[in-house]
Order: sequence, then structure tokens, then C-alpha cells
Amino acid sequence: MLNRRYNLSYKQAGTFIAFIVLAVFVFRFLNTQKNESKLSNNDKFEIGLCRTCEVIKDKDLIIDEDRGEYLDSTLIKKLEVLAGENKDWRITEAYPPTVQHISFCHQNGTCADIALQRNLLNATSLSNLCKDALAAGLTVVNEYGNLKYYSNNSFCPKPNIFETTTGGHLHVY
Ligand SMILES: [Zn+2]
Repeated sequence: MLNRRYNLSYKQAGTFIAFIVLAVFVFRFLNTQKNESKLSNNDKFEIGLCRTCEVIKDKDLIIDEDRGEYLDSTLIKKLEVLAGENKDWRITEAYPPTVQHISFCHQNGTCADIALQRNLLNATSLSNLCKDALAAGLTVVNEYGNLKYYSNNSFCPKPNIFETTTGGHLHVY
């Protein structure tokens, strides 16, 4: 009688331990799944590939609405230097990008598109913006396709139009 009771409780203890071990495994598995989906969310909607990014709105920079919130900190410093010299422009594409770009730098925040304020769109203002951007240490790709904004004595490089160009802008990095 006594023996049989012991046997039973050993069996129960064994089942109980097996249940605990299984529960720990299930818990750890679910936790791993949770962390992984959290990480990929970050990649998609927050800093993601832009490990060196900072928030633009904390800076003295003008950005169009819904055109990204972040840029690489080194790029931000150059844009701040430019903004100190020239107020005729705003950022039209930051990170995360709003459209597909050929340049991979838009996928990690190390480049941006900037454009003249709409009421200042003319060849002289564009040339001045290129001059000041180059002086701020930026590399400039001219994606203003309309040749009326370009002349041979412009400080801007020759227009370089890509298929994905959605509007006149300077691509800077
Ligand atoms: Zn660009």
C-alpha cells in the first residue's frame, strides 16, 4: 500500500517536471518570436538601416511634411552648415525614403534630396544653392532636369536625370 503510493507520487513528480520543462521551452520560444518581430518592426518603421541617424526636427533644418524624420548625423552637420549660409531650400526626401531610389544611400539615410523653395525656383538661386552646398562639404548631383535652371557658368553640375526623379531637386551626400 505504502509502496504503491510512493510509486504514484514519483510518477506524478515526473509528469510535473516534464510539464515544467516543456512550459519553459514554449515560453522561451514565444519570447524569441516576440523579440524577432519587434526587431524587424524597428527596421521597417524606425531607425532600421540608418544606425547613425538623428532626428531632423531637433535641428535647425526645414523639411517638407511626411518626407522622413531621420538622416545620418554627419550629413545633418553638413546640412546645418549649408542652412547657416543659405535659407532658400528645404529637405524633400530624408529617411525613411518615401519612394524607390536607385541610390542605396536613401536606404540608410546617408544622402538626402533638397530643393529650392518654390517661390525661388530660378537659375541664379539654384547656382547659389549649389555653390553653398559644395562649400558646406556636400557632394551634389543635379536632378533639376529643366535646362532653364542651368547655364554653363552655374555652380551646379550638369543635370543628371534619373528615371525615379519625381521633381527637380539636388541629391546631396
Ligand atoms: Zn536622391
